[in-house]
Amino acid sequence: MKQPFHDRVAVVGAGTMGNGIAQTFATFGSQVQLVDVNPDGLKKGIAAIEGSLARIVKKGNLAEADAKAIRGRITAATDLKSITNVPLVVEAVVEKLEVKKAVFGQLDAQCPAETILATNTSSISITEIAAFTKRADRVIGMHFMNPVPLMKLVEVIRGQETSDETTARVTACCEALDKVPAAANDYPGFVSNRVLMPMINEAVFCLMEGVATRESIDTVMKLGMNHPMGPLSLADLIGLDVCLDILNVLHTGLGDDKYRPCPLLRRMVAAGRLGRKSGKGFYDYATN
Ligand code: NAD
Repeated sequence: MKQPFHDRVAVVGAGTMGNGIAQTFATFGSQVQLVDVNPDGLKKGIAAIEGSLARIVKKGNLAEADAKAIRGRITAATDLKSITNVPLVVEAVVEKLEVKKAVFGQLDAQCPAETILATNTSSISITEIAAFTKRADRVIGMHFMNPVPLMKLVEVIRGQETSDETTARVTACCEALDKVPAAANDYPGFVSNRVLMPMINEAVFCLMEGVATRESIDTVMKLGMNHPMGPLSLADLIGLDVCLDILNVLHTGLGDDKYRPCPLLRRMVAAGRLGRKSGKGFYDYATN
């Protein structure tokens, strides 16, 4: 049987998204090289994968032997140089243009010409990232959702120069991972954040203007619109700093004041209230 083109993949960045992406590829049979420049980040990423697989086994949805096999398909490294001969690299490093620039420049220099370089960026232009390489036709957005092993959607974003062949291969790859690919073009926020972030921002305006309490705002959207989570709880989960960064990208990139970040969101980020990850956002998550 012919192996799928993503039989071997490298995932760069072992954080929240990278470790989930690595786990997902390994679950569907790929040999995965997980690379993170930070040894601690790498260790945490591998521990997150092991914890996640153990939970799936405990729930009775995976045999112990299969979990072991999945874990066995993942190797870990701290040097980007170790990525050489793979047909697909998925980048999931921090959302900073200069870091992505360095990573894509190096990957472009060391990977075979046919290797597809995908990015999991939530808001940076795919076209801009592709311009850091000499293979813009083989650079594409593969926007997985958090938590990756559970969420079905992958937004597949074509940059200005992304080829039909690259798009077709990556779309087929998403399907092979039992995900649902949704195609989008390269405009600020793509579809997911272009629609989601203004809703979150409007919820913060409602709170700031005293239209309702945080609980009422979340309850209206949960029970009234059938959303699984209210917008303020969701913002806490995503990270208020991340929400602010994406709103700034929308505001600058689209030049329309309807995307201006709410002053209360700015104030909360300035105060270090970043949501769940800092223990405090619109809600309090401190356990002691
Ligand atoms: P994270 O901070 O949890 O992890 C990023 C990892 O990248 C860290 O472990 C860090 O050590 C590593 N890293 C930094 N520089 C590196 C380099 N030069 N080479 C290799 N590794 C490097 O971030 P995350 O939340 O996993 O986000 C990763 C990407 O996914 C971002 O582009 C983000 O916008 C996108 N994204 C995030 C979410 C989310 O909900 N967190 C959802 C969709 C997309």
